[in-house]
Amino acid sequence: MPALEGNYKAVRDRIKEAANRSGRDPREVKIIAVSKNVSPESILAAKKLGLNDFGENRLQEALPKITALPADIKWHFVGHLQTNKVRDVLDRFSMVHSLDRMSLAQALEKESRKKDTVMPVLVQINASGEASKYGLAPEELEDFLEEVKDFSGIKVRGLMTMAPLVDNPEETRPVFARLRNLKEQINIPSLKLDYLSMGMTNDYQIAVEEGANLVRIGTAIFG
Ligand SMILES: *Cc1c(COP(=O)(O)O)cnc(C)c1O
Repeated sequence: MPALEGNYKAVRDRIKEAANRSGRDPREVKIIAVSKNVSPESILAAKKLGLNDFGENRLQEALPKITALPADIKWHFVGHLQTNKVRDVLDRFSMVHSLDRMSLAQALEKESRKKDTVMPVLVQINASGEASKYGLAPEELEDFLEEVKDFSGIKVRGLMTMAPLVDNPEETRPVFARLRNLKEQINIPSLKLDYLSMGMTNDYQIAVEEGANLVRIGTAIFG
């Protein structure tokens, strides 16, 4: 079996096991194949195996690949987004996972209203409190959502976080549990927070056990 196919199968098997361990239906978990530093040829090979959602974290790198690849691919923007790049993201991506500040919410709102579209977004939370990480502090979330809930050009669909890089993946569990609790606590009738985007190559099994339904996996799939 070629590496990519074996990798993809191994990831699906581990997601299934993790879901079963926590009494969840594995079909609730969608894999976003993070294709940064991956060639269009490899992305196409992954698509042929059944993957159709791909994640990119840099617009400059993503745009030529998006142009070269089939239009039915769903692209997810997962990196830190500068406000002056918002327009290109609206044109090409189907979800932004990294809404990490009010100025970005306002820029997305302004541009999507101009285009008369609505961009689904996830609010990025810095759940570990590391100074190096982007995202809102958990205690800032509610006020932030109260403000953006009336924006008509973006639709908040859930939360995203990145766990600290640790040797023992088990140490990430409290971070993922915190994001799940945060999502459950939010009670704003006009918002439907369906998604928890959490878990990468090192920690996706823990993230699935803790409720992730979008996992962003690069290395474990593409090598
Ligand atoms: C690179 C990246 C991933 C995937 O990381 P891997 O460890 O290669 O699985 C997920 N999310 C974000 C935001 C990334 O930048």
